[in-house]
Amino acid sequence: MAELRLDPFTRRWVVTGKRPVMPDVHDQSGACPFCPGNERMTPHSIREYRDATGAWLARVFHDRAPLFHVEGDADRQAEGMFNRMNTIGAHEIVVESPVHGMTLAAVSEEHLGHVLELFRDRILDLKQDRRLRYVSIFKDQHLPSSTLQGHAYSQVLGTPVLPQLLEIEFRWSRAHFLKRDRCMYCDVLQQELQEEKRVVDQNADFVAFCPFGSRWSYELFIAPLRHSSSFENDMTEPGRASSLASFLKACLERVERVSQSLHLVIHTEPNLQAWKHTAEWWTTLQDDYHWHIEIHPDVDGQRRFLGTDGFHFNPIPAEQAALVLRALEPGAEPSSTL
Ligand SMILES: [Zn+2]
Ligand SMILES: [Zn+2]
Ligand SMILES: [Zn+2]
Repeated sequence: MAELRLDPFTRRWVVTGKRPVMPDVHDQSGACPFCPGNERMTPHSIREYRDATGAWLARVFHDRAPLFHVEGDADRQAEGMFNRMNTIGAHEIVVESPVHGMTLAAVSEEHLGHVLELFRDRILDLKQDRRLRYVSIFKDQHLPSSTLQGHAYSQVLGTPVLPQLLEIEFRWSRAHFLKRDRCMYCDVLQQELQEEKRVVDQNADFVAFCPFGSRWSYELFIAPLRHSSSFENDMTEPGRASSLASFLKACLERVERVSQSLHLVIHTEPNLQAWKHTAEWWTTLQDDYHWHIEIHPDVDGQRRFLGTDGFHFNPIPAEQAALVLRALEPGAEPSSTL
């Protein structure tokens, strides 16, 4: 059984130990477990979005070889300098479309809005579990492939610890707030909108820009214009999910012109109801943190080969990347300038 270990040098949590092999990983028939008709290859749906005939258009189920398990308790233990605990939590799969070979960018705006609502519902549901400190939603899109990787899906991870990168974001946003009494993200958005040189797109509710310190070429940062620390709470307001859906679809279409392989992650506030959370940190979190979506295209395999030890080399400055992405109109034919 795998366990969670804390590396004392970097305060980074690691899941270590055996992970069961997916039951169909050696299946020679090539059947895709995420396609309609193959539901028996996956666990039962936790939640579905269906059409008028009752057929599913998107569905959520437990991962078949989960890294985190709902049963049991954390059983936190110290061994001298070291800390370990059980991998309690949740690991779920969101299949985003019944159509094989279609990316999230290609689904309709309405459909994408329902997928965002499924994300929201899973975060809200998992945050009822006070053992969980954070719920991550992320997507690793690799193309082209005829197997599982060719079916649009995202993963949900509910964890009893904070991912290290989120902990860093929470720390620095709090430090900025304590000094300036303002949300750092709101301040950055204001500067980006004034300068315009890194802005790629904007609608009435959201803005997309290439961050000043982009780690990856054509990295895109999507944030609500109005302050909100919580993706899941923001998406409960009428009209917000559909507004984000049309905006996100256009952003994904632009990014896919540069690279169809990409990583997408939603960064939102931690579980403020969690058991024994770090109370003194989180008193201002709803004022100082600002939810956002990060999209990291994998241009020529850069994501795999650069970024050792947290130091990044990005050959394309954000201003140049924004110029290229701005010119790639969603829905138009791919540009030959790339
Ligand atoms: Zn499929
Ligand atoms: Zn803000
Ligand atoms: Zn972030």
